[in-house]
Amino acid sequence: MPRQMALTFDFDGESSVYYRRTEFENQAPALDTGLREFGPLVGMDRILDMAKQVGIPITVYVPGRIVDKYPENCRRIVAAGHELGLHGYDHERWGELSAEEELDVMRRSIAAMEKITSGPFGFRSPAWALNDRSLDILIDLGVTYDSSLMQKDTTYLVQTPSGRTLPEVPVHWSLDDWPYYGFIPNAGRGSRPVAPSELMTLWYEEATGILEYGGQPVLTCHPQISGRAGRVLALRGLVTRFQAEGVEFVPMKQLAAQATGEPVRFPLRW
Ligand SMILES: [Zn+2]
Repeated sequence: MPRQMALTFDFDGESSVYYRRTEFENQAPALDTGLREFGPLVGMDRILDMAKQVGIPITVYVPGRIVDKYPENCRRIVAAGHELGLHGYDHERWGELSAEEELDVMRRSIAAMEKITSGPFGFRSPAWALNDRSLDILIDLGVTYDSSLMQKDTTYLVQTPSGRTLPEVPVHWSLDDWPYYGFIPNAGRGSRPVAPSELMTLWYEEATGILEYGGQPVLTCHPQISGRAGRVLALRGLVTRFQAEGVEFVPMKQLAAQATGEPVRFPLRW
């Protein structure tokens, strides 16, 4: 059994400011938007350089807004051989969408992505929020897998409320950079940033445990915060540490294609 994991990035950029601003974002819009623009302006290219240095594929989930606003940035990701996945259009808060809006957002995000590369695509919901209908919408639109749930720590099949199945490549907050790097003091969001070495130690221990139990760790990073200089170097160090132990980094679509076993019901009150 190969020991595999995936390094993924949610390339949000400033997409969410086109949706509905929070109270803080309205108070300091330039500060908030500029913080997010660090991803497309600096962070993403640094991450591409790092992936090239260590010779791994990464998977990048991109809101349609960022695809349309920064097409060259996204073409560089594809040209380097990396997987692109869907992530809403304006990083919508999924739970606020009506069924019609959700379908419209999915269609617009797929259309944006198809200007850059051909599908089919996988999907990760903004902030990992899903509605009861979401997985059925994905299947209807030809999306090949979801990566928003936390029911297991190994790739599995999830059964939708309508009884169909879709591969799920699960995530977890402990393997996400946001709780550790996502510091926005004025908004009262996030905690004090941790040292990159501290987070890499945490991820090393969490991922080693998942590998030991036969699972596939999925790291979720955001270029606007993990693309900062010292953090990219730390991430490179973590990747080379796992490579030295024989762990293979693979695209998410490769993990999704390995989903087998008894389907797990979508987390609802059945
Ligand atoms: Zn996101």
